[in-house]
Amino acid sequence: MPSFAVVTFGCQMNMHDSTRMEEVLRGAGYAPAQDVEGADVVLLNTCSVREKAEQKLRSEVGRLGQLKRRRPDLVIGVAGCVAQQEGERLLRALPQIDLIIGPDNIPELPRLLADLDTGGLPQVRTVFDVDAPSFLSARPRPGSAGATAFVTVMKGCNERCSYCIVPHTRGPERYRPAREIVDEIATLVRAGVREITLLGQTVNSYRDPEASLPPGPLVAERRWQHTRGSLARQDETEFPALLYRIAEQVPELLRLRYTSPHPRHLTASLIRAHQELPVLARHVHMPVQSGSDRVLRRMIRRYSAAEYVERTDALREAVPDLTLTTDVIVGFPGESDEDFEQTLELMRRVGFVGVFGFKYSQRPFTPALQLADDVSEAEKGRRLERLFATVDERKVAHLTSLVGSTQRVLVEGRGKVQAFSATAGEGTASYTGRTERNEIVHFDAPWDVTGEVLEVTIREAYKNSLAGDLQELPPRRAPAASAASSTRPGGAQPSRVGQDGRRLLPVLG
Ligand code: SF4
Repeated sequence: MPSFAVVTFGCQMNMHDSTRMEEVLRGAGYAPAQDVEGADVVLLNTCSVREKAEQKLRSEVGRLGQLKRRRPDLVIGVAGCVAQQEGERLLRALPQIDLIIGPDNIPELPRLLADLDTGGLPQVRTVFDVDAPSFLSARPRPGSAGATAFVTVMKGCNERCSYCIVPHTRGPERYRPAREIVDEIATLVRAGVREITLLGQTVNSYRDPEASLPPGPLVAERRWQHTRGSLARQDETEFPALLYRIAEQVPELLRLRYTSPHPRHLTASLIRAHQELPVLARHVHMPVQSGSDRVLRRMIRRYSAAEYVERTDALREAVPDLTLTTDVIVGFPGESDEDFEQTLELMRRVGFVGVFGFKYSQRPFTPALQLADDVSEAEKGRRLERLFATVDERKVAHLTSLVGSTQRVLVEGRGKVQAFSATAGEGTASYTGRTERNEIVHFDAPWDVTGEVLEVTIREAYKNSLAGDLQELPPRRAPAASAASSTRPGGAQPSRVGQDGRRLLPVLG
């Protein structure tokens, strides 16, 4: 049986695509390899949103090229956004590669690999499924489901943020039928998943292509002070109605999150859904990118700082202890000291408890290439540090305020951080989970409590997380069949730690 390994770079969307690739390959008779070095097929699922991720791909292909010299039958495939962006060019630049496959062509993997196996030439398949969009559903194997899972609701993006390559690499917005989304969530919940994160580049612009959803709550009477004209009404999407549909049809689901939303679609109906649906987590990651209206206009974000603040204020008024995190780009072309000070002011005003901060870097095919990249690297670095320091202050105060409280934690698995519980004894291990507000909590337990919702009393606050002690142990469960995990270089999981301690890059938005 041929073996495969999938190596993932980038955001949750890529993580999700990697899981679908693994399922497609297993379905075609491939088995996961113990490690990359031993695999017959290695697929590098790439990200091109930041320059660094692209450089990483090139060095990974170089490393695999050495392996291929020893094992000429090794198939090296490149998937994801760099594959979509570069296509043939990548094949010419890196001749070690056998296969380039775009995000919409994953179902074709077995056929393309079979062609290569019979002596076919290197292949490039990067066609968007615009005419007949399709979405691969999760096929959880018995005992393989984790506590959390991603479910795609849409792909592509119709926004044209001037710095962003996603509209080029993922194509126009295509939505998945609500019926399919609900079915996939129900399947995952039956398999043991407790928390679902709905995925999409602008997830809250969702509209049901089968028009099966009722209109959202009629809250059009809400007048936004900072949104011009009738825009507030036009921005109403069917995303809130999808949330109500999921809550109604999968009542066993414990928690529902979504990423990444666009602030323009943080509408009155969505705010009402947060107020009315207990399944919705009390945390929202809402990318803002800048606090300066001048920079937001140059970024073509289509909202002002005041509009962002008004809408997030309304959300927190509706759900008082909800936490907010965000994305910020520093050093965008033309960003002055004053513009950057406005971003820091917005961080304080909104009270974010986490930020993914990035230095602007020019990306191919983006409108911002027309603008001079005129903030020096040193200045971008200084701004990034100040951004993190500003948000850290609020985050540390927030985490410290939770010491002594008892939190309900959904256990996601074994942790890397020892919780040093006073009650830790022989056989105890560290576990990690999240609260509804997305705070990471470490604690010790004497047996596997993954997937349980447990009460943990917080003992200590760290920079990005909390440590605590279990209130009560749940009964011991019979061990599940061991879950095969995808192979990563060096056995590492494909996670990246953001400034707020979240494990992955956001999906933009
Ligand atoms: S930043 Fe988000 S909303 Fe803007 S173009 Fe990229 S994916 Fe679309």
